[in-house]
Amino acid sequence: MSVEQVDVLVIGAGPSGTVAASIINKAGYKVKIVEKMQFPRFVIGESLLPKCMEPLEEAGFLPYIQAKGFQEKFGAKFVNADKQIMDFNFSDQFTKGWTHTWQVKRADFDHTLAMAVEEMGVAVEYQTTVTKIVFEGTDSLTTVTKADGSEKQIKARFIVDGSGYGRVIPKMFGLERESNLPPRKALFTHIRDVRRLDMNYTEPNRILIVDHSPGVWVWCIPFSDGITSCGFVAEPSFFDSFTGTPEEQLRAAIASDPNIAERFEGCEFMFEPRILQSWSSTCDSFYGDGFVLTGNVTEFLDPIFSSGVTLATVSAQRAAHLVIRQLQGEKVDWQKEYMDECMIGVNAFRTYVMAWYDGRLQKIFFNEQRPHDIVAKICSVLAGYVWDQNNPFVKDSEASVNRLIRLIELNKQITSA
Ligand SMILES: Cc1cc2nc3c(=O)[nH]c(=O)nc-3n(C[C@H](O)[C@H](O)[C@H](O)COP(=O)(O)OP(=O)(O)OC[C@H]3O[C@@H](n4cnc5c(N)ncnc54)[C@H](O)[C@@H]3O)c2cc1C
Repeated sequence: MSVEQVDVLVIGAGPSGTVAASIINKAGYKVKIVEKMQFPRFVIGESLLPKCMEPLEEAGFLPYIQAKGFQEKFGAKFVNADKQIMDFNFSDQFTKGWTHTWQVKRADFDHTLAMAVEEMGVAVEYQTTVTKIVFEGTDSLTTVTKADGSEKQIKARFIVDGSGYGRVIPKMFGLERESNLPPRKALFTHIRDVRRLDMNYTEPNRILIVDHSPGVWVWCIPFSDGITSCGFVAEPSFFDSFTGTPEEQLRAAIASDPNIAERFEGCEFMFEPRILQSWSSTCDSFYGDGFVLTGNVTEFLDPIFSSGVTLATVSAQRAAHLVIRQLQGEKVDWQKEYMDECMIGVNAFRTYVMAWYDGRLQKIFFNEQRPHDIVAKICSVLAGYVWDQNNPFVKDSEASVNRLIRLIELNKQITSA
């Protein structure tokens, strides 16, 4: 069996894998990505957050992305069944940072990043699946299987596992842990959104999130080519009331929602709706001797605030810097400098995910009186700036949300008295 030697082996050519590979490659190390699929390949996760522009910029990807003409995204709009609206503009956010990003078809976006990193000198081997890893200290010997069934081995000084839902190292080494979030299901497709502009439903330059009913919400993510991604998310039992094919079920679900029924009625579905479920997961540790986990492999909570690609690329950026330091012979405190730092962002988002599903966040979003400074602070969270310790809605997220709810309820009591 042939054996190749690299400094760093990256598993997966998703956003976390390519960001990590690019930054480590720039530092002069020999990096190789192995990717199970042939690109372009479909993956969900199409609405980005401004914070992810930082790792994409450092990885050198922005010019490649800009050249693609993806739909620019300037905010996030929430609407409920009573047609009350909360429209967040990233330009109003509290934290200083990027005020826009993109809405992307991930097949094209991820392929763009993978081709960019290849152009920068990183070898990307597609249809190559990691099947075995043996560690000797921090060195490793990885066996990969090609599409034709042939095998080869790759020796590396360090492994970055960015395998997303593949969760290669956690599965191989028993690091997976069940999430404490209840299992949820998504049913989604891409729709030819012919009435998008003339019926004045939404500006294409923001994600629309429809609060359908308690525990049920819908994403509408317009792309630059007139197609819009649309998906329902709910506990699995919600979908039991819809029968027939996935297309019939999704059409019936859409017809049940006054905010989108007319907009999407009779519109062409670009593919048979897909189903994903039980995506929340976590790991005992995000690192070990000779490896680090990045992106979705670490912890994925929920799609409600489009945090996935941002957490993926920010963790990859952070991991890449630490890998470089370790390869340079420095001692890295992976717990403190990596896992604890990652968890600051994950836990801030967790507060808002929980508050969305138990209805607290809707009380804030759809309240008539919304002080501008508070909207700005929550806007920063929704823009992905979840490491800004100057923002009380990040630093003490749970307490800040609850304090605001109490204030809203008190105001309501006073005005109704
Ligand atoms: C319903 C739903 C909606 C979502 N919506 C959003 C959204 O709007 N915005 C957002 O930011 N996020 C969203 N997400 C999350 C998003 O999908 C992920 O967070 C994001 O794709 C993570 O990127 P990644 O690079 O970690 O992994 P991925 O993008 O999954 O890439 C991992 C790569 O590793 C490869 N791989 C797997 N196993 C192996 C193996 N054994 N060997 C080699 N390669 C392997 C895979 O083929 C894949 O290409 C959503 C998630 C769900 C479930």
